[in-house]
Amino acid sequence: MERVLSKHFCFGRFGGVKKNFFVWAFIALLSGCYVSPPLSEVNDSRKVEKPLVLTTFTVLADIARNVAGDRLRVDSITKFGAEIHGYQPTPSDLIKADKADLIVENGLGLELWVKKFTAAAGNVPTVVLSDGIKPLLIEGDVYAGKPNPHAWMSPKKTINYVDKLVEAFSELDPNGAEIYVKNASKYKSKLQQLDDELRLILESIPANQRVLVSCEGAFSYLANDYGMDEAYLWPVNAESQVTPRRMEKLINTIKARKVPTIFCESTVSSKAQREVAKASGANFGGTFYVDSLSDLHGPAPTLLDLQRHNVRLIRDGLTPKRKEY
Ligand SMILES: [Zn+2]
Repeated sequence: MERVLSKHFCFGRFGGVKKNFFVWAFIALLSGCYVSPPLSEVNDSRKVEKPLVLTTFTVLADIARNVAGDRLRVDSITKFGAEIHGYQPTPSDLIKADKADLIVENGLGLELWVKKFTAAAGNVPTVVLSDGIKPLLIEGDVYAGKPNPHAWMSPKKTINYVDKLVEAFSELDPNGAEIYVKNASKYKSKLQQLDDELRLILESIPANQRVLVSCEGAFSYLANDYGMDEAYLWPVNAESQVTPRRMEKLINTIKARKVPTIFCESTVSSKAQREVAKASGANFGGTFYVDSLSDLHGPAPTLLDLQRHNVRLIRDGLTPKRKEY
């Protein structure tokens, strides 16, 4: 007969009750009084709670979910559409951080707020996904020489992110190590496929038309991978000040390179860029997703969708229209 470890009130001992959560619940219901669950059940319910992985933004959460499968809970601190460079963590973010088993950050100076956040989380291990990547440096403007943090905009560099996640997840949950390697390999082949696809699309644009104009200088990795030039209103969103000088410089570039279409990102206002479009004679070609995914109903609910969405906009905006006869 199994020993039952539950403590109970009202009825004396329920010796010999089978160790079964439903039996326990049923007795509690019938007796109409408090019966604490058997300790073994309490322990079991703790065991089934999956470790919590917190990422700093939604794009990293998507990559992490692809590696974690259903073995880990993955959540993003910043929500869809949030500005992530200068984000201010809320008290509820800090409470969440306290419960996390692993914090995942991008690094390269992207998350200015992350030190405060990880300090609040105490001893929670942290993994920096850009570690080991040779960053591209920001050219010109006040951020000149600093690393450009948007390395996930290169599918090849994202493969580095995936490898870092496999390492961190395997340390957190050694029993899942094989599964993480398997999930990662599946996702890496999708990234490889994406790289081929993006190259094919962007190389279809005539070479002299390959000038990508955005609000933030967030496309350096993409531009570098696929042979594009880039121009932008400001180097990083942390300091997204629109000055007349920056606007004038961009307008001159657009005119000199005869750029037909320019764009802006979902996490910042497109007002200034629309003015640049008007002043330079370019079209405003739509909204890019870079620092945040869209929600599930939007055009960029995953990183793969995000890349495809942006590149389609670029192709449609920069390819000369065929003449209609
Ligand atoms: Zn950014």
